[in-house]
Amino acid sequence: MEQIIIFDTTLRDGEQSPGAAMTKEEKIRIARQLEKLGVDVIEAGFAAASPGDFEAISEIAKVIKTSTVCSLARASENDVRRAGEAIKHAAKGRIHTFIATSKIHMENKLRMSEDQVVERAVQAVKWACEYTEDVEFSAEDAVRSEVDFLVRVFEAVIEAGAKTINVPDTVGYSIPSVWGERMAELIKRVKNSDKVVWSTHCHNDLGMAVANSLAAVMNGARQVECTINGLGERAGNASLEEIVMAIKTRSDLFNLGTRIDTTQIVPASKLVSTITGYPVQPNKAIVGANAFAHESGIHQDGVLKHRETYEIMRAEDVGWGANKLTLGKLSGRNAFRTRLKELGIELESEDALNAAFARFKELADKKSEIFDEDLHALVNDEVVQDTAELFKLVYLQVASQTGEIPHAILTLNRDGMEQRAEATGGGPVDATFKAIESVVNSAAELLLYSVNNITSGTDAQGEVTVRLSKGGRIVNGQGADTDIVVASAKAYLNALNRLYVKPEKLNPQV
Ligand SMILES: [Zn+2]
Repeated sequence: MEQIIIFDTTLRDGEQSPGAAMTKEEKIRIARQLEKLGVDVIEAGFAAASPGDFEAISEIAKVIKTSTVCSLARASENDVRRAGEAIKHAAKGRIHTFIATSKIHMENKLRMSEDQVVERAVQAVKWACEYTEDVEFSAEDAVRSEVDFLVRVFEAVIEAGAKTINVPDTVGYSIPSVWGERMAELIKRVKNSDKVVWSTHCHNDLGMAVANSLAAVMNGARQVECTINGLGERAGNASLEEIVMAIKTRSDLFNLGTRIDTTQIVPASKLVSTITGYPVQPNKAIVGANAFAHESGIHQDGVLKHRETYEIMRAEDVGWGANKLTLGKLSGRNAFRTRLKELGIELESEDALNAAFARFKELADKKSEIFDEDLHALVNDEVVQDTAELFKLVYLQVASQTGEIPHAILTLNRDGMEQRAEATGGGPVDATFKAIESVVNSAAELLLYSVNNITSGTDAQGEVTVRLSKGGRIVNGQGADTDIVVASAKAYLNALNRLYVKPEKLNPQV
């Protein structure tokens, strides 16, 4: 069967969601899971955006063996050369360069004429070819570009050496029939179209990113750009799991395949959700908690008698139920290390492993069964604590009682100095946040506070996400603990650390 190339841009486009910026370690963990999932191309970042992004791409290029590692680059010499340097060590490396081709972008943003845009696009592809044979070109805002001009640009960049041509609906404006036609027309009219793989990249502003992508596939596209959980700027990108499962479940219509190991979909979804702090809605297709739950009696009865009556896919085929009980109280350090390795988690040093193991033992005392999700959260917490030194929670005591005003007392370590604070609040979490603020005085605005159970049961760890905004920057913080007030304090401090420690990023959009 002919294969569709799955190009995952969770680490680049997905990271542009407000507050989803990831550390290098977090990006590497996701990249390893994407490789396990069988993604063909991992867009690891935008090398020229910041030294941190450059380093993350470079590290991912070193550790990933089977997937192609790609960096985005605007059509400028500096961007393309930074991308080329970043993927230098990749077993398979790609440079993805782009320039806008719509009138509105060329006139108002680039201030360039059509001729200048063509010339620059060709030049960028030639620079990229100095580093790798695998060069992708995107026409930003292709959806609002004139077809005649797109044909001209694409013929020129293919001539210059581009191997993949990506047609993005940057603003999420198209509908399936129109998008399919657009793809067919381009492939038909571009005279050297048979020399390249045609690709599509759709945004979800009208809820049609997946439908548009599939319409493009029906009309000749052989690469789809997508993200785990549909993460991405605004309403997000086409979701990888929906694209892959649609092609698989309706292979009678598509007659195409992918290299994805679908049983790794749910683990990938959970990992991305944990790291970015973006929860998955329960009714989300494929990866939502309710996606395979049959509540109504009629459905339950049907499924019990014969599962295909209401199920078009099997939960275990996409990785549900794969969260086997993995470790318990009596598990040793070796079992712990082995399980982390199987999950694609590699801690940097023996010290980091020891610290994580100590936390695991602590958790095993409070919680009888430890699942893979717990291990991800635990290590995440460890990494979070490692990378964020400015504020640390030392001690927390919260009194909460019916008829009494909740009261929190805590000790924070601020850059090596211990400070004590106390406050009252509307609830224990509110009191805790107020106590923290009385020390930090960040004046950040709390945009989101959410608690999720990492696994089921009342002894499960609570995973708290806190989203803060200050001076135009938005950050997410996470914390996990069997005590949700402690998890909340950790999450709030984690967000503050990100706000104070991490540099701002420059984000291009395709
Ligand atoms: Zn995009």
